[in-house]
Amino acid sequence: MLLRHTPETIAERSALTINPAKTCQPVGAMYAALGVHKCLPHSHGSQGCCAYHRSALTRHYKEPVMATTSSFTEGASVFGGQANILEAFTNIFTLYEPDIIAVHTTCLSETIGDDLPQIINKAISENKVPPGKTVIAASTPSFKGSHVTGYANMVTALVKYFAKNTGKKTEAINLIPSFIEPSDMAEIKHIADSMGVKYIIFPDTSDVVNGPMDGKFRMYPKGGATKEEIEASGDSRLTIGLGRTGTLDAVKLLDTQCKVKSEIIDLPIGVAATDAFVDMLRVEGNASVTENLLLERGQLVDVLCDMNQYTYGKKVSLTGDPDILVGLVRLCREAGMEVLHVVSGTKAGPKFDRKIRELAGDKVVIKTGAQADMFYFHQLLKNERPDIILGNTYCKYIARDMDIPLIRTGFPIYDRVGHSYFPLTGYRGGLRLLEKILDTLMDRIDRDAPEEKVELVM
Ligand code: SF4
Repeated sequence: MLLRHTPETIAERSALTINPAKTCQPVGAMYAALGVHKCLPHSHGSQGCCAYHRSALTRHYKEPVMATTSSFTEGASVFGGQANILEAFTNIFTLYEPDIIAVHTTCLSETIGDDLPQIINKAISENKVPPGKTVIAASTPSFKGSHVTGYANMVTALVKYFAKNTGKKTEAINLIPSFIEPSDMAEIKHIADSMGVKYIIFPDTSDVVNGPMDGKFRMYPKGGATKEEIEASGDSRLTIGLGRTGTLDAVKLLDTQCKVKSEIIDLPIGVAATDAFVDMLRVEGNASVTENLLLERGQLVDVLCDMNQYTYGKKVSLTGDPDILVGLVRLCREAGMEVLHVVSGTKAGPKFDRKIRELAGDKVVIKTGAQADMFYFHQLLKNERPDIILGNTYCKYIARDMDIPLIRTGFPIYDRVGHSYFPLTGYRGGLRLLEKILDTLMDRIDRDAPEEKVELVM
């Protein structure tokens, strides 16, 4: 068994990471850039980095992910990649005709110290950026942070380069989601649409990385926030950041750059967090809660009550990204489950710890950052065994080693489908998550029950 030798005894580590519970910053930056219409992500580094980032997203979404690279070789690695990227701008605008090139850096270009704002200014002065086209850049060195910080940095760059305050305030509300699935972004739009709220959402990867198969190749799928929408976000009356870790910097910058007041709330996962989101839209968007939302809420509450005897007291351990973890912990607690462990490779800070403890109590073990890795998560589980694990595909080795059922949540999920199309956010997402939890727990009861105790009706 692959992870059989993970020891139970936990030794304090200050430097070593074993099987990180995160991936690298550019993956998140690339994903955020895909949520802008006719925007082509560009990786400023070696071809290997870009190939890895694209393949991580392609394997998770089962869709081709378009991105370009500065293709560093030995020369660029020593002298810097300015010549490479200047040539790349000409080639990309000629061959692929994007409206926007969103450049993110890599470990290599950051270590060399390439000055991207200066390089972009040089490209503009040398007419390598055609009229009406834009190049933006985000710093995403992967020797720190994670895919979540890379996502946050690219979203902040979208605000920095595009958001404008024209002095004429509009009634629109900006919605900035943390690193979540396209299905989750679609669910957030479904809630706002059904209440008739005027909103701008960015980035928006729905209809980009979960598009239909219709036999036609589109270099730029129809989804994504438009440049004009992001520009107009500077005139909106309010910004709602959905998930603190992934949105804080962008929300703060919109406030300081364009004087758009802001609120940061949790991702709407579970009943209470979705209620909070709906209520904020109701108050700030001067809207009413519609019958269909009440129906969706009622169905989720109904299943929570009906099936409580199967979830109550069940022990769960979770690993993933901080903003999603807060939502998952909340829904597990709403189902009466006991949360044992919460581990994230993305550093989340004291507010995250406080929130998890408020939801799950003082006994829960919380660790975030570089040493909060899969090895440590496995050790925790060996010391206190949960009934189920919530986490990404990499948890399957731990689940197999310990014969604990795994529900795949978060990023990446390489070995199952569905996450692109079915949300975890909103009341409908809560219902889906609850169904997955119940199916998993009840399958285990069926598997382990002695023959005479197998129940037809549960
Ligand atoms: S960790 Fe650094 S070197 Fe490795 S793929 Fe990511 S950006 Fe490239």
